[in-house]
Amino acid sequence: MVVYASSMSIHLFNTLGRKKQAFAPLVPGKVGIYSCGPTVYDFASVGNFRSFLFADVLRRMFEANGFAVTQVMNITDVGHLVGDADEGEDKLEKGAKREGKSAWDVAAEYTKAFVEDSKKLNIEVPHVSPKATDHIAEQIAFIESIEKNGYTYIIGDGVYFDTSKLEHYGQLSGQSLDEKEGGSRVAIGDKKHATDFALWKFSPAGETRQMEWESPWGKGFPGWHIECSAMGEKYLGVPFDVHTGGIDHIAVHHENEIAQTLAARNCLEANFWMHNEFLQIDGGKMSKSLNNTYTVADLIEHKIHPLSFRLFILGANYRTPQNFTWDAVGASHTALGNIRNAVRDLPKPSDADAESMAQFMEHVNDDLDTPNALAIFYGVLNHPSMERSVKSATLLAMDEVLGLALEDVVARPLTIPGAVEKLVSNREVARLSKDWKKSDELRDEVLKLSFDIDDTLEGQKVKEVW
Ligand code: AMP
Ligand code: ZN
Repeated sequence: MVVYASSMSIHLFNTLGRKKQAFAPLVPGKVGIYSCGPTVYDFASVGNFRSFLFADVLRRMFEANGFAVTQVMNITDVGHLVGDADEGEDKLEKGAKREGKSAWDVAAEYTKAFVEDSKKLNIEVPHVSPKATDHIAEQIAFIESIEKNGYTYIIGDGVYFDTSKLEHYGQLSGQSLDEKEGGSRVAIGDKKHATDFALWKFSPAGETRQMEWESPWGKGFPGWHIECSAMGEKYLGVPFDVHTGGIDHIAVHHENEIAQTLAARNCLEANFWMHNEFLQIDGGKMSKSLNNTYTVADLIEHKIHPLSFRLFILGANYRTPQNFTWDAVGASHTALGNIRNAVRDLPKPSDADAESMAQFMEHVNDDLDTPNALAIFYGVLNHPSMERSVKSATLLAMDEVLGLALEDVVARPLTIPGAVEKLVSNREVARLSKDWKKSDELRDEVLKLSFDIDDTLEGQKVKEVW
């Protein structure tokens, strides 16, 4: 890709420290990103995809600034329990019961669905997508290091991390251990402190789990947090540059990842910790019990193109809560249809407009300010006098960051099938004789062929049904 912003500074909001900081890579010219990926016991929701789209735009921003990016996104296929406090059923075993399949089959099925949905949203494929179950040995070795350094204890159901032994536990969420314990509603059971967490859980006595492994401590499975510390280190080395996830991960999952890596390696796991706010539905929480967790398949069923959902997500800053309504994503769908129509008629790209690109990248580099970056994009799209080949080049360059797949449509006028042409010319005749009924019928025929007509001052204009 063409690099437009190599001399610009990048500022990112770091949850660790709670302020916007100038970004400096650990190795010049390179960036390592670890993004917490999906738990593959069900389809990823549009809420989950807000998180993955945020990580994708972050990666594209670095690429547009000329960095060689390595992005790792894990696939959680074991150990993520229903409760956040190491209690409850393993989500994979729960999914298996629900579907009458093995946990392994459920994981394979939803991993495949996740990859397909990501593609529909034009999310760049991570360079490495490691599965937790493929890295059991690495996780055991990591726990051994934590144990050797004296941070563990064993109780009836597993090996636990003793958070009171770590001087800086709680630095990410900014809460002291006492505050966390005081505010915790979690039953602590045999744990020494409410914030202690499982590194390795034993298989229940007399029960064979579908997913279990031998370990130095007994047969069982890894705690949820250890996979990210172990696989992050394996593929990026520690510390690495940026760790991403949703805000729900701050207080438990990421706090515990930091603790594990500090205890095992005496080193911060990552320099920048970035978290997206939640996508809400109709102003409230998305939840299975309210039957309002939508998927990419639901978008398609509602005739919302997945890329329209991508445009919708870009319309809000990742650090503000965003509200999903069918009206709002419907408006994004219309908007993207209009963008596509407008760019089809542009000529082949020449050189991008440097000034517009600089303005655009300034917003993108300012903690991924996509709403303002989009405003610059629309300014170019609707510019009355910009050379049209410059316009197409500029919009395409911006789209390297936005990811709306405009390369498929820029300077590619619609090919209109003969059958549609014929209906349109018949409709012209009907309109000239003011036969509005016939005109409407002919438009319906055109719609059936997946095209539509705009009646403009210059006459009928055929467009795709988007
Ligand atoms: P999970 O599949 O539960 O491990 O979650 C995958 C990612 O989605 C995590 O980074 C979560 O923090 C994030 N996430 C979950 N729900 C939402 C939501 N409603 N809006 C935005 N991100 C979410
Ligand atoms: Zn994680």
